[in-house]
Amino acid sequence: MSEPRRLYHFIGGKPTPPDSGEYFPSANPATGEVLYEAARGNHRDIAAAVEAARKAFDDSQWQELSQTRRGHLLRRLGDLIAENAEELARSESLDNGKLLREMRGQLATLPEYYHYYAGLADKIQGDVIPTSDRRVLNYTVREPLGVVGAITPWNSPLTLTGSKLAPALCAGNTVVIKPSEHTSATVLRLAELAVEAGFPPGAVNVVTGFGGEAGQPLVDHPGLAKISFTGSTATGSRIAAAAAGRFIGSTLELGGKSPNIVFEDADVANAATGVVAGIFAAAGQTCIAGSRVFAHRAVYDELLERVSERARSIRIGDPLADDTELGPLAFPDQRDKVASYVDLARSEGARVLTGGRATDGGLGGCFYEPTVLVDVHNGMRAVREEIFGPVAAIMPFDTEDEVVALANDTDYGLAAGVWTTNLARAHRMAARLDAGTVWVNTYRAMSPMSPRQGFKASGVGVEHGTETIKEYTRLKSVWINTDEGPVPDPFVMRG
Ligand code: NDP
Repeated sequence: MSEPRRLYHFIGGKPTPPDSGEYFPSANPATGEVLYEAARGNHRDIAAAVEAARKAFDDSQWQELSQTRRGHLLRRLGDLIAENAEELARSESLDNGKLLREMRGQLATLPEYYHYYAGLADKIQGDVIPTSDRRVLNYTVREPLGVVGAITPWNSPLTLTGSKLAPALCAGNTVVIKPSEHTSATVLRLAELAVEAGFPPGAVNVVTGFGGEAGQPLVDHPGLAKISFTGSTATGSRIAAAAAGRFIGSTLELGGKSPNIVFEDADVANAATGVVAGIFAAAGQTCIAGSRVFAHRAVYDELLERVSERARSIRIGDPLADDTELGPLAFPDQRDKVASYVDLARSEGARVLTGGRATDGGLGGCFYEPTVLVDVHNGMRAVREEIFGPVAAIMPFDTEDEVVALANDTDYGLAAGVWTTNLARAHRMAARLDAGTVWVNTYRAMSPMSPRQGFKASGVGVEHGTETIKEYTRLKSVWINTDEGPVPDPFVMRG
């Protein structure tokens, strides 16, 4: 059997072996086969990457690069991603087990992230402020922060990296990325493409490895000006505390337990498809999974019937095959976590209407059946905590007020879905739901143009759209006295 290939860090524009000389394996979750071994990063690798990023940031060529030119580089990077989309989609699907169809879809959209921020690069500007003193010119400038750290998860590695990297570079920062230990390959390839696009060495660096060994030293590095993180709420909370202690900003996109609400006036067939899309697509491994389904009692039985029937017919198997509908969980521990939550739900009195078992998918991989839980309520741990797997808890409700209270009774506030044909109700629900994104008669829609923010324990700060540029810049206020006369009374504040 041939040795798995080795992946190095990417520091200062080139592949760089790990300081420790150690590597760790990354396996295909559909088959258990080891795909490659990645460099096991430590604090010295992180220090080298932050130093390379700082050098690139301070370099006069980067400092003097026009914003328009920065936009050109981002556009070129988007084009290169498009040219390499099939390779990247396949590599990502092998690494995290998500359907090749889904990863192809993500890769078809990903260039738009870079193209959007390419267009925005020369529109980052300050204002002239009309203070009350006409002899003073006061203007603001949006400056880049310096070295940005990006820590990303395994569920959509390139897309979630794009949400951070594209605006960070657009604003003139340089970046050090620590991808999930489960998905190192495509982010390393992205860093190579950034150099090919013309970004100077050190503008985009990647250190692979484990959260505690490489992620934590990145968060703690004094050279970091900002940290942007997507992952669990528990890790996000630790990162936010560390960042606050050093007075640097953090943008956090964290977990969810999103409600997907079906009213009695909904098109129930469409709503059932939306429920299936919300929780079984990507095997439920998305932060926006619609894991709590609330159905009005008048349509509860019909919705249950439709969703469970579709769940039973979902084709589990090889994520590379065109007709597969559900791939594996990303790694064995994740499957075990899903299984333990379903066991917990059973012990708390839930009934498993369909699914509820781990399987190897006939491939030796770590799959879990699409699962529908009923006889559940908001007090159960399986209904309160993020499972991050294909497990829907379906509950009936009677009134709009009741479902608003149930939907908002969660620590999280990432997203919510509403299925209704009543226009007034649609707007009412959008206003009443305590979630950063509300979808009406659709689910899982996303665009780099549309800002998103997690409320409550689902995050801090905004990703996407023009709003996120504020997260990657600092605001400077400049006062120019245009009066050449004597400076007035030194003991009175000037306005
Ligand atoms: P984590 O939040 O632990 O991991 C996300 C990223 O943070 C990874 O790159 C991880 O590295 C890194 N990391 C872990 N610990 C630290 C640390 N102390 N300092 C800095 N970086 C760190 O999530 P997991 O991958 O462990 O998944 C656990 C659960 O989190 C899932 O079951 C799911 O519920 C939730 N999750 C939510 C996501 C979302 O999109 N909101 C995405 C992923 C997970 P490493 O991979 O090496 O641990």
